[in-house]
Amino acid sequence: MTTEATTGALVAAHQLAGEAEAMAAAAIAKAAELTESGAKIDDHQVLCERLAVLATEARAARSLVGYAERLAASGRADALSEDEAYAYAAEVAHKTIGLREAHPGDFADLPAVSDATRTLIRGGLDDARLRRIGAQVIEGRGVNGVELDNDDAASTRSFARQFAKAEVLREEDGVALADRIHREDLLVPESLIKQFSELGFFGSSVPDEFGGTEMGYLTMIVLTEELSAASLIAGSLLTRSEILTRALLEGGTEEQKQTWLPRLATGEVLVGISVTEPDVGSDVASVQCKATPAEVGGTQGWLLNGAKAWCTFAGRANVLALLARTDPDASKGYAGLSLFIVPKDTFDGHKFEYRQATGGVLTGEAIPTPGYRGMHSYILNLEDVFVPMENLVGEAKGVGRGFYLTLGGFAIGRLQTGGRALGVAQAGLEKACAYVTQRVQFGKPIAQYQLTQYKIGLMATRIAAARQLTYDVARETDPKARAPLGPAMAKLFASDVAVWATQEAQLLHGGWGYAEEDRISRYVADAQVLPIFEGVKATLELKVIARALVAGGA
Ligand SMILES: Cc1cc2nc3c(=O)[nH]c(=O)nc-3n(C[C@H](O)[C@H](O)[C@H](O)COP(=O)(O)OP(=O)(O)OC[C@H]3O[C@@H](n4cnc5c(N)ncnc54)[C@H](O)[C@@H]3O)c2cc1C
Repeated sequence: MTTEATTGALVAAHQLAGEAEAMAAAAIAKAAELTESGAKIDDHQVLCERLAVLATEARAARSLVGYAERLAASGRADALSEDEAYAYAAEVAHKTIGLREAHPGDFADLPAVSDATRTLIRGGLDDARLRRIGAQVIEGRGVNGVELDNDDAASTRSFARQFAKAEVLREEDGVALADRIHREDLLVPESLIKQFSELGFFGSSVPDEFGGTEMGYLTMIVLTEELSAASLIAGSLLTRSEILTRALLEGGTEEQKQTWLPRLATGEVLVGISVTEPDVGSDVASVQCKATPAEVGGTQGWLLNGAKAWCTFAGRANVLALLARTDPDASKGYAGLSLFIVPKDTFDGHKFEYRQATGGVLTGEAIPTPGYRGMHSYILNLEDVFVPMENLVGEAKGVGRGFYLTLGGFAIGRLQTGGRALGVAQAGLEKACAYVTQRVQFGKPIAQYQLTQYKIGLMATRIAAARQLTYDVARETDPKARAPLGPAMAKLFASDVAVWATQEAQLLHGGWGYAEEDRISRYVADAQVLPIFEGVKATLELKVIARALVAGGA
């Protein structure tokens, strides 16, 4: 229903999103000048971090407003979406004006903020608006019913939601599978992996010609989001295969594509991604794990030696996609790295030792973590692990291209992590809506208090912004183009929202939210990892987002 009031909200939201974008453009222009188009980012790190966040939030505001506008334009105007768009655009404009006042040197010339803009911001941030959003969201139990305008994505969402409830949250002795995995630090069961295989989930980014179900990024994100709302691990099972798939599609030989992609698509081959090392995290160019050419048993190949860290799923995986130094000259940096597919046996424990007939030994030991349980993340040690020549991605042409191929995979992995974060944040929101409805204090359900409604309103609004940003990036991202900016922005923003929203949701549960047996504590523990992997927050902000912005990248 379109009313004068809701239309007014949309017009105001549109204008404020435009103001936020203009301020972001002025900040980008100034940072480009100061950093000499990115060459001197390290001399302006704090400013560049602020730039990355404000440009991301301005883009999220535009996406959320764009969504409400599309609904209105197609005769499906929705007062809740318009309220959320107005509230969020006002939040971003207000914050950015605050940054202009505190750090005028961050921005190229801009006209002074007008009284009209300030009036619009006050309207958007009106407490009553956020309380109204919150009350409506609580009434609908927080359920995500946003329009997707894509039949495949819509049917995938409803199927995946049902599947996740029936299987990932399947109860045994009163405990849901996802909760049991978390509490007992178990490996995800083979039965679930088998179901994923049968449903074609692992092939979601593998082209048809290689036996996949390549479904387009929007559908893939929606699938990931729904699985992650039940359990971060369920939503994460697909990411590793996705990263290797991208690397193979971009740099694999035809034979490698034929060998690996159909097996990745069915889940016959599951993957662990091994880039990080005990002393090497963000500074990937410094990877030390060594690959030395060798002939073993009459076969030409490479011997791998060194330590790796945080390799998730390395026990259960059938192969590791492992980045190693093929050029012993460390000064070559990135250009000395190559990507290997390392086959191995599968193991289901927290510790494993894999011995090759040729004498190589690969050991793994899981690092205990408070969340993101179910796949285990391992410290690895490789001693003379042999891989034949054809297991270097790209073979001779892939020597020295490993960094490039891995990062290409990560760019899309980050988009998927936007989807994972949306799922976790959404789970927190729904859990909070259910709890505040039934929890009575001082004689009435806490849902009826103004502050509860306001908090839920703010959560719902920011989650809606993260969702529309991620969906827009998914729609825009061309699988064949290298465009790291959008996926990095989606990952940065959705991860931050997930961390914040799950904590807010936990607070609404009071002390009971801290109990391990309440699912909200799992969501909080799981959300914390999202800004760390696939490029820890600071690295993503400085080295991917700010760098692309000041260089004029997309
Ligand atoms: C649960 C979990 C699962 C993981 N799974 C995998 C996996 O499957 N495969 C894999 O390869 N890796 C994995 N990782 C590793 C993850 O990708 C790394 O933790 C991440 O890339 C950051 O590296 P780091 O931990 O060494 O942090 P560091 O690079 O040491 O960074 C730590 C902090 O230092 C600061 N910093 C670093 N560099 C700069 C700079 N240039 N300027 C300013 N500040 C800086 C930042 O504040 C940063 O947050 C996983 C990690 C976790 C926690």
